[in-house]
Amino acid sequence: MKFKELNLEKQLLKALTEEGYEKPSPIQKQAIPPALEGRDILGCAQTGTGKTAAFALPILNKLIQNKDRKQKKIRALILTPTRELALQIYESIEAYGRHTGIKNCVIFGGVSAKPQIEKLRRGVDILVATPGRLKDLASQREVDLKSLEIFVLDEADRMLDMGFIHDVKKIITMIPEKRQTMFFSATMPSEIQNLVSKILKNPVKIEVAPVSSTADTIEQSVCFVDKNNKHRLLIEFLKSGNIGSSLVFTRTKHGADKLVKELIKAGINARAIHGNKSQNARQAALSEFKSGKIKVLVATDLAARGIDIEELSHVFNYDLPNIPETYVHRIGRTGRAGLEGISISFCNIEEKPYLKDIEKLIGKKIVVNDEHNYPMIVMSVPEKDKINTKNNTKSRNPRAEAPRSDRKRRPNKKK
Ligand code: ADP
Ligand code: MG
Repeated sequence: MKFKELNLEKQLLKALTEEGYEKPSPIQKQAIPPALEGRDILGCAQTGTGKTAAFALPILNKLIQNKDRKQKKIRALILTPTRELALQIYESIEAYGRHTGIKNCVIFGGVSAKPQIEKLRRGVDILVATPGRLKDLASQREVDLKSLEIFVLDEADRMLDMGFIHDVKKIITMIPEKRQTMFFSATMPSEIQNLVSKILKNPVKIEVAPVSSTADTIEQSVCFVDKNNKHRLLIEFLKSGNIGSSLVFTRTKHGADKLVKELIKAGINARAIHGNKSQNARQAALSEFKSGKIKVLVATDLAARGIDIEELSHVFNYDLPNIPETYVHRIGRTGRAGLEGISISFCNIEEKPYLKDIEKLIGKKIVVNDEHNYPMIVMSVPEKDKINTKNNTKSRNPRAEAPRSDRKRRPNKKK
């Protein structure tokens, strides 16, 4: 299914193409049509499933069709628990709505309210907010929610965990009864269920499968190898003959470019796709790959998200991801539709903690392949390069090269 089939306004379709989105994610596919009809939505889905577009596109669509900006009233409100999430949502809405002229604003605590108030006074259609700051500004009469048409509660279970549920309930008393509500939560503890039954009217329920279930048809293995031998090992695999079309994941754009150079030097026809390449260059690489002209595509996670390639024979995790869910997403690109797929991961000494996290998530040990020609020699990590999985990485920030809107993919660990 394509976004086009969802009956979205053309300004939105244009922005989605520019974002590199090719097709709606499962939650988007299921939520957008009923949301466009004005139905309430109850979405049970975890981080990384594409919830933002699932609610933002119907909101933008409605506001485009029904432009009533003269009043300068807030028409849609999105409540989310943290400043980071609020910023991410705001940036996504700005991106999806860039051709619409719709005005968005984000407010959160911990910073001066003054610029936020100034922006609110100029008139805002869509407001993204954390509960505390919204409550404050509403009590100062800087936010008027009386004309609200659409209300979104994002990450409801985390609101509960973080102790914001009282503020949320208070805010709900300030908005009109007659409205559309979209409610998202990764889990449904009883207190959340109570809230659902209070604030949603005959909602469409949508659940998307947790990512931790890796397809059983995928054969997974890991090779322990030193960082500076990884490209040699990859070349050995690619030249071994029984490898079809392969997607190779690197952590950074720079890493992708460097690897492609090595592969080409070794006579392997490879291309990189990542955010620094133009949309045209990415599209060209993709169609060459699809037609079989090039066998190897080297991608960063971000660039790979929007692409859909069938019949991929191998996924190589050239760098192991620090977010275990990312591993599941990556290898899910092979072994589609019951086809057999193979995932080969390269793990150097510093990445061992990541491997452990991954195995914990998927609930099994990944088979170790120790029959390759570049066994690990470096067995200890210098103290300064140690990876702290709890507080994320210090010395090797995997997001260092990611664009701003893609920062923070990992949900804060629950207490
Ligand atoms: P969630 O709120 O469920 O955690 P997000 O809405 O933040 O998920 O989306 C996660 C990532 O996936 C973002 O980087 C977003 O740009 C990207 N994304 C969302 N939908 C699509 C799509 N249809 N195609 C490609 N990338 C997408
Ligand atoms: Mg989200």
